[in-house]
Amino acid sequence: MKDKIVIASAMNHMVRIHAACTTALCQEADRLHDMYATSCAALGRTMTAAALIASDLKSPEEHVTVSIDGKGPVGRISVQADGQGNVRGYVQNPQVYLFRESDRKLDVGRAVGTDGTLTVSRDMGLKEPFTGVVKLVSGEIANDFAYYFAISEQTPSVVALGVLVDTDGSVRSAGGLFIQLMPGAPEEVISAVEQIAADMKPMSAYIDAGMTPEAIISELFEEPEFMEEKPVQWNCDCSKEHFADALMLVSEEDLLSLIEEDHGAETVCQFCSKKYQFNEAELREILERHRHVEHRQRFH
Ligand SMILES: [Zn+2]
Repeated sequence: MKDKIVIASAMNHMVRIHAACTTALCQEADRLHDMYATSCAALGRTMTAAALIASDLKSPEEHVTVSIDGKGPVGRISVQADGQGNVRGYVQNPQVYLFRESDRKLDVGRAVGTDGTLTVSRDMGLKEPFTGVVKLVSGEIANDFAYYFAISEQTPSVVALGVLVDTDGSVRSAGGLFIQLMPGAPEEVISAVEQIAADMKPMSAYIDAGMTPEAIISELFEEPEFMEEKPVQWNCDCSKEHFADALMLVSEEDLLSLIEEDHGAETVCQFCSKKYQFNEAELREILERHRHVEHRQRFH
């Protein structure tokens, strides 16, 4: 099944639903970062949630940045997504494998930890992005996003996120679902949604059974109205120019030591692990630009 996001409404437009299949997206992240199962599930859930949030963005310049740091063994999780379905992300420690003794399931909550925050920045192309920060409630990520929607966006939401990792460590299926109540939703709609949430199977079970996002929505809601279908895929838009700009932020002293002692530099993209080499001549060019900027800053 191809990865995609489907947006629908139900119950007289009182409920908005976003559903995603993100299996290939999570497989690509796993391939690039060489992750152990629990790190992979934590990053996959976060990427799926970020993709679902970004699916509401209209302009190509807009994007969403999600950052989770609960001081657990996986460290910081960082994800970017845009309205075209481009997603990239990384986890500080990709090699965490933790499971719960009770049911042998991956212990994402313990791996992520709860001593920290979930931050969502929506960059709408305006000067200051809209940023919401909440404390982590469980580290399981879906609950943390539900809490974020309730507190930061005043939108009561059911959030389900699932990444099923096979015994050989590969991603078997992944997906996510947001069910959000519109302002003024009557009591009977609220209790119907609560019932749906209580009866729902784990998200990855639906995807693993081969159900498309439309099929999942149709299983949960009577006569949903499908509004939009969007692609979702891994994409890192890093480039050598981007890293040359980043090297401009290095001090003149450090640039000189890279030139004279190391005779070159290598930068690595955190998102996709791609390496970019800078030789001595390229570093000297960056140093010249650096001096030029410093000079201008001093005299203007
Ligand atoms: Zn990259």
